[in-house]
Amino acid sequence: MTQTTASNPTDFIRDIIDQDIRTNKNAGRLATRFPPEPNGYIHIGHAKSVCLNFGLARQYQGTCNLRLDDTDPAGESMEFVDSIIRDVHWLGFDWEDRLFYASDYFEKLYLFAIELIKSGNAYVCSLSPDEIREHRGTFTEPGKESPYRNRSVEENLNLFERMRAGEFEDGAHVLRAKIDMAAANIVMRDPILYRIKREPHYRTETKWVIYPMYDFAHCLSDALEGITHSICTLEFENNRPLYDWIVGKLIPANRPKQIEFARLSVSYTVLSKRRLIELVQKGYVRGWDDPRMPTVTGMRRRGYTPEAIRKFCAQIGVAKNDNLIDVALLEHCVREDLNERAPRVMGILRPLRVVIDNYPENQTEDFDCANHPQRPEMGTRKVPFSRVLYIERDDFMEDPPKKYNRLAPGREVRLRNAYIIKFESMVKDEQSGELLEIHCTYDPQTRNAPPADGRKVPGVIHWVSAGHGVPAEVRLYDRLFNIEDPGSEEDFIKYLNPDSLQTVMTCHVEQSLKNAEPGSQYQFERLGYFCVDEDTGAGRLVFNRVVPLRDSWTKIAAGK
Ligand code: ATP
Ligand code: MG
Repeated sequence: MTQTTASNPTDFIRDIIDQDIRTNKNAGRLATRFPPEPNGYIHIGHAKSVCLNFGLARQYQGTCNLRLDDTDPAGESMEFVDSIIRDVHWLGFDWEDRLFYASDYFEKLYLFAIELIKSGNAYVCSLSPDEIREHRGTFTEPGKESPYRNRSVEENLNLFERMRAGEFEDGAHVLRAKIDMAAANIVMRDPILYRIKREPHYRTETKWVIYPMYDFAHCLSDALEGITHSICTLEFENNRPLYDWIVGKLIPANRPKQIEFARLSVSYTVLSKRRLIELVQKGYVRGWDDPRMPTVTGMRRRGYTPEAIRKFCAQIGVAKNDNLIDVALLEHCVREDLNERAPRVMGILRPLRVVIDNYPENQTEDFDCANHPQRPEMGTRKVPFSRVLYIERDDFMEDPPKKYNRLAPGREVRLRNAYIIKFESMVKDEQSGELLEIHCTYDPQTRNAPPADGRKVPGVIHWVSAGHGVPAEVRLYDRLFNIEDPGSEEDFIKYLNPDSLQTVMTCHVEQSLKNAEPGSQYQFERLGYFCVDEDTGAGRLVFNRVVPLRDSWTKIAAGK
């Protein structure tokens, strides 16, 4: 059913699935799930898992469930559920009517635990958490059996029911699987299945005071939903025998196959939820949707597109070994995508006033400008031209080096979509010496035409008519951290880049952007891609710089 093509590359997970389909395992059916815990917003690492799980379902005409893995009340909330639903949709995926909550299985999971007790495969252990740890042993030494390991089924049932009824303090007892305290794999040394925790749950409220552990809840949720391939990250590799043990004892007919792949790490950022929460809670960023955050909501606000994120996830592929992906690759994907779709406009970040002395005082000309150089179907817009303009301060130099081909004393430059102008004089503040404005003359013959005398004017700069442009605020972003792998540092806060946000209040953009919609992206010619921020409104126009135009990835990829 599936074919490996350049746009559909294969990998070890697809190889396994192909093999299972070939041997008609699960009657040829594929069912995956994306199982986030609603204790934070999802980030680019989750996006990789979303693209993989939903992408497989799409490729193999299978299904992918969205399951909120909400079995630990600490830190979980409806706000996070809502954000996950919105973000996965925005990434371009749909679970139809298959939205599930692990907490909806609490009663079933409890009954499964009873079943394990009855079959002699689980017991209530009354060691303290410290004692349990001491009994567990090490990599080189086997564990010690708990003195409570041989409690009778009746006693276990009685204690477990009373745990549920709330008769005991937190930590007084736990339910453990009875497997093997001498197992080489420490995970198999009578792992904990249930613990007492008096903490209200955002959905079940105070109904439960015992909660199932991840290892117990996750595999059974998969089996209950008929998942065929349970894809997770590498840190669960050692837990796979436990996954198989639990499902084998309780729902042996549905045995999902757990497959592990490498977690995505991206340079110059952190992806652990605990750390992202710290950035938000301690105010190092403005919130989960701060455009510097690697969260899906942050990337959306920044102006990244779902197409770009999906392309990035496809390009990095799935691997068996953890590796750090260069953030420049992500930025490259964003730039390529926006290059295709973003209309071109002109905006000036740091304005320098230019007066065109020979242009009539009260005249305005409307120039038709193409919205996209390669895509005529994107149409044109009118851009007004007048006697007083703004150009970028950088586009004028009083004492330029030889190769500089923008505006300078004695030189000419072309104004994009308009005329060639020539420098005449400048006005400086008498006290400070600061440059206030420059005066030029224009050549009326050169409106979108080369000079009649054949002289060469190589430089082209952008401009905005001072009387028509709209003032705007622009937020320029740099990497949030100033070291490549902040995730590997305990004290990662120390490496925050103090210049990751720079706010420019002096911007002027062309008139056509006056009513630009929040969330829409533009290329400001020569400057980069910009996205209208949601702070826009009530006379305020705010842009985020999505990415600058310069692409460092092409250089990196070419090994330069
Ligand atoms: P964290 O360790 O940051 O708290 P998590 O793995 O506990 O993240 P979950 O909400 O449990 O977060 O993850 C949901 C799914 O997303 C899991 O299947 C997990 O394997 C996957 N996932 C999370 N982070 C990454 C990542 N960096 N790369 C790839 N997949 C990830
Ligand atoms: Mg988790």
